[in-house]
Amino acid sequence: MRNFNIPLARTLQILSILVLWLFLPSGVDAQQENPNRPELGDRGLRGILGGVEFTVADSARQQLVDRLDFENYKELIRGLTQFGDREQGTARNAAAVDWIEDQLRSWGYETERIHYQYTPRGSDQPEPREEVFATKVGDGMPGEMYILGAHMDGRGGGEAANDDASGTALVMEIARVLAAPDVGSNRSIRFALWNNEETGLNGSYAYVEQRASRQGVEDPVGSGRYPEPTWLGMIQHDMMMWDHGNPVTYNQALDADVDIEFQLNSEMAQESAVLALALLNANRMHASDYPAVMSNAMSNTDSTPFMDLVASVSLRENRRLYETGNRANPHWHQPSDLFVTFSDADFRLGFNAAQTTLAAVTKLAGVEIIPSGN
Ligand SMILES: [Zn+2]
Repeated sequence: MRNFNIPLARTLQILSILVLWLFLPSGVDAQQENPNRPELGDRGLRGILGGVEFTVADSARQQLVDRLDFENYKELIRGLTQFGDREQGTARNAAAVDWIEDQLRSWGYETERIHYQYTPRGSDQPEPREEVFATKVGDGMPGEMYILGAHMDGRGGGEAANDDASGTALVMEIARVLAAPDVGSNRSIRFALWNNEETGLNGSYAYVEQRASRQGVEDPVGSGRYPEPTWLGMIQHDMMMWDHGNPVTYNQALDADVDIEFQLNSEMAQESAVLALALLNANRMHASDYPAVMSNAMSNTDSTPFMDLVASVSLRENRRLYETGNRANPHWHQPSDLFVTFSDADFRLGFNAAQTTLAAVTKLAGVEIIPSGN
């Protein structure tokens, strides 16, 4: 018996080491080598990717997601905060619109502006306002598009770093990645940086009023150009970085997550839930650190004007009504909403939302890296 038992025990021991070796090192090492993955400290890898096998198409999508750059995301936030809170109607708001447009053009986009009127509170004189957008034109189906949005105006007298430079920079960083000459998209993708969100979604309402009826119209006829491609989905990003629990703690909460919300009480609730699910799945597959959750009370953001017309969702650090509305973010609309208020763990929650949206839209719109020589 002795002679039999010892080899069996040793065999089992060797087998178990082999099994551990097979399952542990490759995944962990690959993730630690990626510069876009944070130092997680005590947090540990969250296993978001665990158990999901990648197809060839998933791996191709991951290559695009890996082109998002964490430091560049932070730099874009810093660039926006140089204009202070960018309150609508101010010179610093107008300068920020110009700056956003300059960035988009530097990546090769043609930009356009929406012009609309806004009547400030306490006045009866409408004043002109502007907001900028750019489009990645689809190669195969240019007449259909997804809209990625965030609002570039802010308030509170600080720098509106989280509300909503964090969302604006997210949309811009995705635009930068998709501008690469070797990236093609079957459908069109529009990057819209709304103004006048804080005064009642006036910028996004103006867009819907001016352009909903122009959807899918080829102009000029036969040109293959669609000034307003048919809307397939609208994905809004508003306050992306701070999930410190409630009561609020000093550090990013260990269970911090990306909140994907649709509005149950809307004409397109079913379609919006399907879009939200696509984002939830994209997060599970392609986000590096923070998971996502989905709920049904989207509110107070620029996806609202769209929600009865097209699938519409918002991504946030917290659920707007139950968490943000219950003071989960003490810097909301305060002078303390400054770039320096946030740590890398905060910036990384926004960055994980960028990974989530890019991965989802890559699948939905049919984005791919075109091999050189083709
Ligand atoms: Zn906001």
